[in-house]
Amino acid sequence: MELEDRLEEVHSRVRKAASEAGRKPEQVTLVAVSKTFDADAIRPAIAAGQRVFGENRVQEAQGKWPELRAQTAGIELHLIGPLQSNKTADAVALFDVIETVDREKIARSIADEMKRQGRALRLYVQVNTGLEPQKAGIAPDDTLSFVTFCREELGLTIEGLMCIPPADENPGPHFALLAKLAARCSLDRLSMGMSGDYEVAIGFGATSVRVGSAIFGTR
Ligand SMILES: *Cc1c(COP(=O)(O)O)cnc(C)c1O
Repeated sequence: MELEDRLEEVHSRVRKAASEAGRKPEQVTLVAVSKTFDADAIRPAIAAGQRVFGENRVQEAQGKWPELRAQTAGIELHLIGPLQSNKTADAVALFDVIETVDREKIARSIADEMKRQGRALRLYVQVNTGLEPQKAGIAPDDTLSFVTFCREELGLTIEGLMCIPPADENPGPHFALLAKLAARCSLDRLSMGMSGDYEVAIGFGATSVRVGSAIFGTR
């Protein structure tokens, strides 16, 4: 199958999962995760109309997106990997959305950089729903206080919550937990679901799904 066909297949499954959940397809944004793929591999997705992309490394994204953006208007770029403080300035300059706000230090540094650069990025707080030691994210029990800190101490607008469930577990309970935490924080946007489970995530209320290999192929 060509990339165009895989992309259309994912779109059609997103529509079907949304309608089965009694939701409107346009309530779910498809973030095409292009990490590890170079500009030439990404161009067919842009040509097919895809505009929202996710990358997990700042430096890798800097190597391809300025050029791709110069060629096509309306690209929206999401950072979905962990952010180090020394990369915050670059990340704020390049990305439109940071989905991995996961600690006070990085939230503060994003707030400072946005002020300095006069840019307002859309921000998601990453929650470590499985409390996995190797995984980034705020603990579920600390989510409300962290979101409140971002809002009240830093003046940030948080758009939603993001999670990556443990690879070896049924993702449903993790998606349900993220939805519950978002409601507690008065947030209505949920970034959850990847190639293997995006339809399940839509059933639990995902407003964006981050799909890589089902579109671009195996990495
Ligand atoms: C790589 C990645 C994805 C996409 O994973 P696939 O299984 O290829 O769809 C989604 N979210 C994050 C945070 C990732 O790092």
